[in-house]
Amino acid sequence: MNYAIALDYQNCINCQACEVACKEENGVQLGAGKQRIWVGLVEGTTFGKPFANTYPSQCNQCIDAPCVSVCPTNASHYEPGGIVKVERKQCILCKGCMEACPYDARFVDDTRVSVDKCTFCDHRIAEEGTTACQATCPTKVRTFGDLDDDNSDIVKLLKTRRFFFQKEYTGTLPKLFYLLPEDESYARQSVSHETKIYTWKEIEPLYRQANIRRSKEWRR
Ligand code: SF4
Ligand code: SF4
Repeated sequence: MNYAIALDYQNCINCQACEVACKEENGVQLGAGKQRIWVGLVEGTTFGKPFANTYPSQCNQCIDAPCVSVCPTNASHYEPGGIVKVERKQCILCKGCMEACPYDARFVDDTRVSVDKCTFCDHRIAEEGTTACQATCPTKVRTFGDLDDDNSDIVKLLKTRRFFFQKEYTGTLPKLFYLLPEDESYARQSVSHETKIYTWKEIEPLYRQANIRRSKEWRR
């Protein structure tokens, strides 16, 4: 198993229903900056025309996660499916993981006295088969699934679309796949020239092998 999410971000209408669903599903602390998922907004102009791009985001469940390697107590660890989690009782709130994460995906949950982050709703995968954010989104931005399963919706989708990663240069093997917009004008205004665009065929061997290597460290 190698859980991941593909995001058809051009379809995001910034309703933030995913953020609300996540808070409700996971009992996340209320308040500014206390969130497991968020919607990034970038506004600008191209040739005098204003635009606003939305980038729904959350923890990338990186295969080579710096938040895990930096943790002095092993509170941050890998679980089956490659999900990165925090064992609250072991967290001493040193915040090293927050510094190490290139995606700013972690925060301190004051009510739980621990660092907190997205878990891909792992408590409900067996029964519901998906995350609260995917289930709630009215425009079906997210597709959750198993990269090791050729018949999963996410692999079927990745075989038909090209995609890129946020901050790929940090080398963490992130697992949020941003689908290149099919609308050419949206693609031009939301993807920089330097961004590498991939196909599933190109990326599959790297992600499959890295997951096998990392799975030896999964805490069961
Ligand atoms: Fe965007 Fe879907 Fe989240 Fe609404 S629920 S903000 S459309 S990703
Ligand atoms: Fe860790 Fe940040 Fe990667 Fe999530 S996105 S696994 S918190 S480094």
